[in-house]
Amino acid sequence: MPIDRIIIVGGGTAGWMTAAALSKLNDADKVEIILVESEQIGTVGVGEATIPPIVDFNRLLEIDESEMLSAIQGTFKLGIQFVNWGKLGDSYIHPFGNYGYEMEGLTFHHIWHRLRQAGDKRPIQVFNPETMAAYYGRFARTPENQREDLPPINYAYHIDAGRYAQFLRRYAEKRGVTRREGRVSDVALDGETGFVTSITMDNGETISGDLFVDCSGFRGILIEQALETGYEDWTHWLPCNRAVALPCARDDGSPPLPYTRATAHSAGWQWQVPLQNRNGNGHVYCSEYMEDDEAHRILVGNLAGKPTADPNFLRFVTGRRKKFWNKNVIAIGLSAGFMEPLESTSIHLINTGINKLIALLSLDRVTTVQENAYNRLTGKEYERIRDFLILHYCQTSRNDSAFWNYCRNMSIPDSLAEKIELFRTNGQIFREDDELFTETSWAAVMMGQGIEMQGHNAMADTIDLATLKPEVDEIEKSISFLVQHMPAHKEFLSQYCPAAE
Ligand code: FAD
Repeated sequence: MPIDRIIIVGGGTAGWMTAAALSKLNDADKVEIILVESEQIGTVGVGEATIPPIVDFNRLLEIDESEMLSAIQGTFKLGIQFVNWGKLGDSYIHPFGNYGYEMEGLTFHHIWHRLRQAGDKRPIQVFNPETMAAYYGRFARTPENQREDLPPINYAYHIDAGRYAQFLRRYAEKRGVTRREGRVSDVALDGETGFVTSITMDNGETISGDLFVDCSGFRGILIEQALETGYEDWTHWLPCNRAVALPCARDDGSPPLPYTRATAHSAGWQWQVPLQNRNGNGHVYCSEYMEDDEAHRILVGNLAGKPTADPNFLRFVTGRRKKFWNKNVIAIGLSAGFMEPLESTSIHLINTGINKLIALLSLDRVTTVQENAYNRLTGKEYERIRDFLILHYCQTSRNDSAFWNYCRNMSIPDSLAEKIELFRTNGQIFREDDELFTETSWAAVMMGQGIEMQGHNAMADTIDLATLKPEVDEIEKSISFLVQHMPAHKEFLSQYCPAAE
């Protein structure tokens, strides 16, 4: 069957990102796109920290960055600060850019370790521009005519989730996407193929389609309720299953930080996402070790100012749908699976889901080859991210609560155990299957969590120290020069993208 009509069910971040991206197909007037959402049900209302590929997503849609950030109270993000994770009192930044640069084909942390062994005391952080800018609360985009010896600045955004969805809604509707308000109360399947043929709204209207994108959030009304796809539960490795979200004012007068903060507590962790006008906050925790009241109390006790809304309590099960693409339904967003927002990966998975869908989509028909490829690639993406998240929990020396004792002693996937041991032995990191996280990301979190490299790649020993040291000194000098000449993050925001009224 040719695809003449695509139905998107759900108008949260996933639904409107999908609609905005697919609306590019509308140019050819080949396919009709309808998005159905229910104001009565609403959206999950969280999801405000992103990672750098979001910048490319917006560029692909030719969205003006300053206009968007202005409309959604957005700020810039250079990385994530982890507080109290390896042990109480610890803090480290997982930055978005690299440490130094590759030398003789070796990732910089090998070079750094070689110098360390030769008595150099400098922490690896001084060789990363994003970390240094974050420490100083500064930000600037890389100018096109920047000096060649200065590194680029990699960044993402902090966004107001509701405003971002509304911004994309305006974008998609301008490009021909039709929005229908109402609750989907029934889903019809073809008796022979099992494909979804139509949805029925609670006002009795039936909307038929050829391809359906399930962006209905945790409900998964097409992928699960209608197609019974099944769910793989990862609670054993990622035991947190509750969150309470609560925005607050910044009454302490502090400027918006150019990074997300993740502070570990006794049975989970708290996020702080600085927007221009407020902070987004939340406490992710495990119900086996903490009651809702206590989680709420801890959160309220660690805010930068007065709460600006009622607490939003959420429940989830970490894991993934057994199939993300099943027959003619593709699940994108929370309907596809969920991993807690420790590394801000959910919106990214929406982005990559959309990219793969557009790459695989043929308007002639849906085939099992497309379905299998999508499921295989997405499954690998989920697993790589899962392992990266588990690393934050299992590599801790915290023993101050039953929760951390569990995390420290739980069994971990073989794929992760191998990665940790390779890094410990000689700093080796293999990036697999185009995985999201770079060698710097893995190195930053491994070292941040307290794993010490016992050696480095033997090739690093073949480089002459007398030539190595001045080159490394230059990297530090360039970064220091770059950061000292950046404006404060707040100042950059007020010039580049001041919040719209
Ligand atoms: P939702 O926002 O739940 O939207 C579902 C849509 O489906 C709504 O429009 C709803 O009305 C509609 N719908 C549902 N049922 C029906 C029906 N029967 N009929 C009609 N319409 C229906 N991600 C990040 O990248 N960074 C973060 O910092 C981050 N933090 C998070 C913190 C928490 C605690 C949680 C739970 C998630 C977080 N996420 C984060 C994930 C992020 O919030 C989601 O990926 C994102 O908001 C997309 O959600 P969604 O659109 O899939 O679902």
